[in-house]
Amino acid sequence: EARALYAKARPASAEAHQAAQAVMPGGSTRSVLFWTPFPISMARGEGARLWDADGLEYRDFLGEYTAGLFGHSEGSILAAAQAAMARGINLAAAGRDEAAFAGLVCARFPAIERVRFTNSGTEANIMALATARAFTGRTDMMVARGAYHGGVLTFAKERSPVNLPVPTRFMDYNDPEGAAAAIRAAGDALAAVLVEPMLGSGGCIPASREFLAALREACAETGAVLIFDEVMTSRHGPGGMQGRHGITPDMTTLGKYIAGGFNVGAFGGRADIMDVFNGHRANALPHAGTFNNNVWSMAAGRVALGEIFTGEAAEALFARGETLRARLNAACAEAGLPMQFTGAGSMMTVHFRAGAITAPYTATPEEEQRRELFFLDMLAAGIYVARRGMISLSLPLSDADLDALVEAVREFLAARGQV
Ligand code: PMP
Repeated sequence: EARALYAKARPASAEAHQAAQAVMPGGSTRSVLFWTPFPISMARGEGARLWDADGLEYRDFLGEYTAGLFGHSEGSILAAAQAAMARGINLAAAGRDEAAFAGLVCARFPAIERVRFTNSGTEANIMALATARAFTGRTDMMVARGAYHGGVLTFAKERSPVNLPVPTRFMDYNDPEGAAAAIRAAGDALAAVLVEPMLGSGGCIPASREFLAALREACAETGAVLIFDEVMTSRHGPGGMQGRHGITPDMTTLGKYIAGGFNVGAFGGRADIMDVFNGHRANALPHAGTFNNNVWSMAAGRVALGEIFTGEAAEALFARGETLRARLNAACAEAGLPMQFTGAGSMMTVHFRAGAITAPYTATPEEEQRRELFFLDMLAAGIYVARRGMISLSLPLSDADLDALVEAVREFLAARGQV
């Protein structure tokens, strides 16, 4: 019924999906955006507002899956990108913005002594794994069951035909003893452990400090390179999630918001490890890539990290998110329903079960149904969230926007409590 109302209100999105399906399987090139009966076709965005093809308006609580930290129309980011393009679209050369942006990244994340840019977070992780394999001369990687590190690094299932052909070992998220034992057992077969300090796509599930510390210690012992995927979580503080925990990985990957919302990824870490790319050395590892230093992303990144999302701004956004999540969870507790928002700072995901959630799980059909209803009810209230129930805050969201979300969640609890 909610689905039928959704469809009825959006004939233009339905039509756009029909047309797109004729030329793209599923009607889009981003699987994450697909849902039944059809995804919304957005026409325009401004600040933290979106308007769809049917003219419906939304408060944007998805924030482009965390890449939209600055909203859709930040003036100085647009100006920097436009000024860069006015100096010529991509020049097949090193640029000053590239080095300045790299300087900001290294200053911000002390564990990143040297950095290189990519087009996406997926590529950043692929290159970080390649770096670790080259540096250690080893082959295998270890990841957490249920983790997502990019299109070809998706571990919701242990085996996926799309995944990189890298021998892969698994650990359970937030199981310090089990993970440390698995790392020690892998010994000198293991080149890298790749882990998010909070699972983002995996359900906004924070790692315990003990878990990350156990990984740190076991990797130091065996010589495996510890890679923190902070593509999403680096927004959580002046020095990212690693800074909050005070745990230093050997390498870090970044992406999403760091170039102001433009296409980007970055990987970096200890200078001795990153030196495998030093072209002055014999047998340096190649890492080319036409758009790695594209002029708009480099220019926008300089402004985004250097002038807008400063360390203080990161701290403030984290606190704002914590307060919002506490308000949402208070509403759930008041209603006495098995519903909660997990996460940290400005990222959270709704779950329809009681008790602590410390690792990815398979939702029951009933939980899935509630999740879909939540999504549809939020849309009906003019609030855009991810189909899987993820929310990520952007800087232009107002206090009134946050109040509207809390109110919509209260209404959902009142109306759908008996599902
Ligand atoms: N790592 C994490 C933790 C991510 O959330 C994502 C994207 N959702 C990626 C890597 C891949 O980044 P991209 O989509 O830019 O390839």
